[in-house]
Amino acid sequence: MPGLLGPQHEALRATLAEGYVVALAMVCLMQYVYSMYRIKHARNLTSQFQRQVNNLSLEMMQIDRDRMIHRLENQILRDVLTQTECRKAVAVLLKRFVPNTEDGFAAFVRFEVAQDPVIHARGLAQESIDALGISQEVREQLRTYGAVVWETPTRGTCPLVGALHPSDRKKCRLLVAIACQDGEQLLGVLVTTALFPLTASRSEQLELTMRLMQAIAPSFRQSLELEQQTSQLQCTREMLELRAITDSRFDQPIRMIEAFLVRLCDMVGGDAVRLFLLTRENGDELRTMFRHGATSHAGILDTWMEHEERLAQCSNATACLLAYDRPQLRQIDIDSLIGSAITVPVIQNGAVIGVVCITRRSPERLNETQRQLAAWSAEMLSNTISRALSLAAMERQARQDGLTELANRRTFDAHLAREFAAVRNGKLAELSLLLLDLDRFKSINDQHGHPAGDEVLRVAARILREIQANDLGPDRSTSARYGGEELALILPGVGQNRAVEIAEEYRQALARQVIHHLGVEIRVTVSVGVATFPVHGHDAQELIAAADEALYRAKTGGRNRVECGPPEAALLGAH
Ligand code: GH3
Ligand code: MG
Ligand code: MG
Repeated sequence: MPGLLGPQHEALRATLAEGYVVALAMVCLMQYVYSMYRIKHARNLTSQFQRQVNNLSLEMMQIDRDRMIHRLENQILRDVLTQTECRKAVAVLLKRFVPNTEDGFAAFVRFEVAQDPVIHARGLAQESIDALGISQEVREQLRTYGAVVWETPTRGTCPLVGALHPSDRKKCRLLVAIACQDGEQLLGVLVTTALFPLTASRSEQLELTMRLMQAIAPSFRQSLELEQQTSQLQCTREMLELRAITDSRFDQPIRMIEAFLVRLCDMVGGDAVRLFLLTRENGDELRTMFRHGATSHAGILDTWMEHEERLAQCSNATACLLAYDRPQLRQIDIDSLIGSAITVPVIQNGAVIGVVCITRRSPERLNETQRQLAAWSAEMLSNTISRALSLAAMERQARQDGLTELANRRTFDAHLAREFAAVRNGKLAELSLLLLDLDRFKSINDQHGHPAGDEVLRVAARILREIQANDLGPDRSTSARYGGEELALILPGVGQNRAVEIAEEYRQALARQVIHHLGVEIRVTVSVGVATFPVHGHDAQELIAAADEALYRAKTGGRNRVECGPPEAALLGAH
């Protein structure tokens, strides 16, 4: 009945209908907003959850990595700490850092209280090891921070790089130095071009290495102390053994010195030992008293001995114990054969009287114990050496003529008897004797005085010694003062012709010589009698008599000449 309701009803109904629509729209909108809110909330929850899951898995990974690092750390500590020797423990440690020596290197520098650093290295050239040093500045940094890292190190940025051999410098993409410190004391430094594990961050790697060093330090210190005690004990034992040598009986002091030095050389791992004595006759001159060892090919031996002489000169100049390794040897131009050496001056009453020089092929520098032993030995020997020297001087005096320094008559007699003993034993087939008498010597004394005569005798003796050294070498020949102005030369193994040649050479040399004495020039000649076994005599007496007879003929024949044994006719008559 729409017509019955009227227009007001119609309007009311339309209004109501609109109201429903609006209400419905509102409800829909609210529902939409609510559902949007729910979706957003759900999304938030999901992402929050996701984040939590992510965090958890990161933590899991971290725990895994930590566990892996921890396991690695324990394993390394076990490997390193179970080693009985420092050297081996360090070797195991270095291998961990640098498994492949072509890619990198690692070194452990041990600072020892009483000696220079000892370097254990892996993958480093010898030149680099020789030159590697930890500067004071780096040591301070290590004390403060525990580690120093040089990312892409260069000469400018890292003080260690300059010392490296070019082949090692190439391996330096990273360089890390980590202190091995026990309390305040810096025991050593690990220098490495690589850290591990590779998967860990740099800071984790550093932390691990520092922890390792901290864990190793106490036992490292203990084994260092143990090594020092052991070497001290060893040193004491060796000293006792050497002292026993000085206490044992030797027929001559020099034999004791020889035995002592040979044992010392052995104890310090030397290849050769040489004792030089300082003579002050012609300025400071080092003469060899004894040498032992390194007897190789003659040329090599000569070079080796030249090196020894250079070392001894340095020791004499400084009067200090000097231990050398390769770089230091190179500084004094010794760059072959010898890898390390030690020289110890022998000091008596504050003055250097000699030098003990021990050389070896090994490039490893002698350690503190070996140096101590060498220093102690030189001190121990100084008294014996000077005793041996004065004894030798006394013996020489007993054997020598004081004016001419030739053998005296007693020694001449003994040596001639010795040579005839060799003849009897069939060890010698020929033997010649020269008796040499200065001509008109009395008139030299009369004209220029007795001291001038003495000088002439000294010069005549010197020339005889020179000829003996040049023509005969270091064999058994004996030059002697036979008496007054008469000299003699015993020539074992020399036949008649050669003996006459030698006599002639001497005669001419003396005749040429001008002798200066207090501004006066003196000349002298000599007459020589030569006799040879078996031609002119069969024992010492016969040979002397034959030489004397020849000398007499030289005098009566006009002097300044050489005559040889009794003529054939006389010999035939005698036998
Ligand atoms: P001759 O050519 O015949 O050998 O004549 P000579 O003058 O050399 O011989 P003589 O035997 O007559 O004289 C030797 C002299 O040598 C006598 C002695 O005073 C001297 N004389 C011996 N020993 C020494 C010495 O140690 N120093 C000096 N200055 N003279 C000495
Ligand atoms: Mg005479
Ligand atoms: Mg004479």
